[in-house]
Amino acid sequence: MCKMIKESEQKLLVDIHSHSNLSHDGSDEPIEMARRAAELGVSHYALTDHIEVDEFGLSEWDYFAAIAKFKPACEEIRSKFGDKMKIYFAAEIGQALYDLPAAEKILSENDYDFVIGSVHRTEHYEHMSKIPDTEFDRKRVIKEYFDEMLALAEWGKFSTLAHMTFLMRFVNIDTPAGLVCDKEKRTEAAFDTYKPIIDKILETIIKKDIALEANSSGYRRGLGGPMAGAPFIRRYRELGGKMITVGSDAHEVCDVAADIPKCIELVKELGFGEICVFEKKEPVFLKI
Ligand SMILES: [Zn+2]
Ligand SMILES: [Zn+2]
Repeated sequence: MCKMIKESEQKLLVDIHSHSNLSHDGSDEPIEMARRAAELGVSHYALTDHIEVDEFGLSEWDYFAAIAKFKPACEEIRSKFGDKMKIYFAAEIGQALYDLPAAEKILSENDYDFVIGSVHRTEHYEHMSKIPDTEFDRKRVIKEYFDEMLALAEWGKFSTLAHMTFLMRFVNIDTPAGLVCDKEKRTEAAFDTYKPIIDKILETIIKKDIALEANSSGYRRGLGGPMAGAPFIRRYRELGGKMITVGSDAHEVCDVAADIPKCIELVKELGFGEICVFEKKEPVFLKI
């Protein structure tokens, strides 16, 4: 069922992370996604369909055929809705480090306004939903996840770091005080337990002028807040970070802009006066 967004909450509605059926896991046509965004009053919008670099040549999904359609799709939605909202040409690159030459080739061949950098899997865990619930696996997958995210940040050829607490959707956290099973408490527990590497990742993106994403799908996935979660966003600011992007990560029409007002409100409460979008790789700040 589609969520209603109250008119009073529509001051600034920005959604620069969403997927159409040009993603292997997306449901709806680009034009339908954009139509919904325009109807809701989204002012800045981007489709960011998946480029899962680790799956090249292994998946049944033809990434190269899909990637070739991103620009025409963007042009089509711009021609229909460009008078109602600012529309960016973008993509979400997952696991770029698994085939850097391929990732860099795609980036050099496409004049994206911005690219979202993501970690959706790790070396030993291809499917996050299938991680065995043992202490060994929990600790190993979290270590791999943050290590690979740090390496991705050090590579740095993207504009915003996606959903930093994505893994917390799938794993419980082992802390000195015991195992944290409550999904809503995992983000904070992960932050406290893995602070040194989290700091390194945040310091690296700040140094490289990469934004931190507040991905509102964390609300609908039971994490009780965006991904990255509040402690991560707060820490990013403490360390000098100034660039926050927001997106719903909608994979179907119904989720476009879902929980974005809540997400922007939280970012504001955490001390930010602006969020940002990217035009031709340059940050553009929007007052919140
Ligand atoms: Zn993602
Ligand atoms: Zn996504």
